[in-house]
Amino acid sequence: MKIAFIGLGHMGLPMAKNLLGAGHILKVFDLNPDPVDILTKLGATPSPSAIDAVKDAEMVISIVPEGEHVRALYGGHEGILDHIPQKAMIAECSTIDITTTRWLHEQAEKSGLSIVDAPVSGGVTGAENASLTFMVGGKEDDFSKVAPILNQMGKKIVHCGAAGTGQAAKICNNMVLGVTMIASSEAFLLAEKLGLSKEKFFEVASGSSAQNWSITSYCPVPGPVPTSPANRDYEAGFTAAMMLKDLKLAVDAAQTTNSSCPMGVEAMSLYNLFCNTGESGKDFSGIIRWIAGGGFK
Ligand code: NAD
Repeated sequence: MKIAFIGLGHMGLPMAKNLLGAGHILKVFDLNPDPVDILTKLGATPSPSAIDAVKDAEMVISIVPEGEHVRALYGGHEGILDHIPQKAMIAECSTIDITTTRWLHEQAEKSGLSIVDAPVSGGVTGAENASLTFMVGGKEDDFSKVAPILNQMGKKIVHCGAAGTGQAAKICNNMVLGVTMIASSEAFLLAEKLGLSKEKFFEVASGSSAQNWSITSYCPVPGPVPTSPANRDYEAGFTAAMMLKDLKLAVDAAQTTNSSCPMGVEAMSLYNLFCNTGESGKDFSGIIRWIAGGGFK
């Protein structure tokens, strides 16, 4: 299939590599030329603009940071929507707000295009190993069309329901992730103060009722999970700035729907403080160092 892939950052680059590996014909674009060069060497065609990338695509996949980037990419005079061929499918994989997601669905449908919101979970390792979870919102027919391609970048593809429900799932998922990363960090620090080694606490917690992804797959202390960012000075990964963005999306959504999420609000507030220390570009698991007062090694 001819695929236009736009947004080649921490997630998009390994996702695009997997599609190339599966034999698809890729045209790629990013504002940053470095990942474009990497993919060109692997057989992708570089595009000078997003419009050029999509003009004869059968499928468009985008994964950029925030809602404002999605609006800039798709909408307005410079946007790609008017240049995507009829019958092409769009999978928008960024984690963004529901309002922008619904706007994009409306605009795409007006242009006669199939679209799903398809945010992902699983981190950079999941993107590299093609083991991501895709949370998909959109019509059943459109889901059936995109699912086989998403399946080449992930191992769990869930149709969550109508437009925007993929984002709803992702926002709720990451609110749990933000809270559990803080709780897991607190537990490792307390364990250390109580004379319990991080290895022993990991051995217990990873198989007991404390078990969660922040411990077993993305452990905030170096050692127990060799692939976690803790082993490389909290190099992202998933930046603290991105986690703060996602927690704001959750808290905004809670306000809009008159829901209450005091733990989500607290996690947002703590990530805000952490980011204000100048660490917003570090991995979100680096919050453990800040909770420890900077003393944690
Ligand atoms: P990133 O900042 O590493 O990459 C984003 C890329 O988009 C950058 O290369 C940037 O140059 C490019 N970009 C921005 N605007 C663009 C435009 N108009 N045209 C072309 N390229 C453009 O971000 P990331 O970590 O890859 O995350 C991307 C999205 O995926 C975010 O919404 C994030 O919340 C979500 N996500 C990230 C992770 C993770 O672990 N990093 C996990 C799940 C979901």
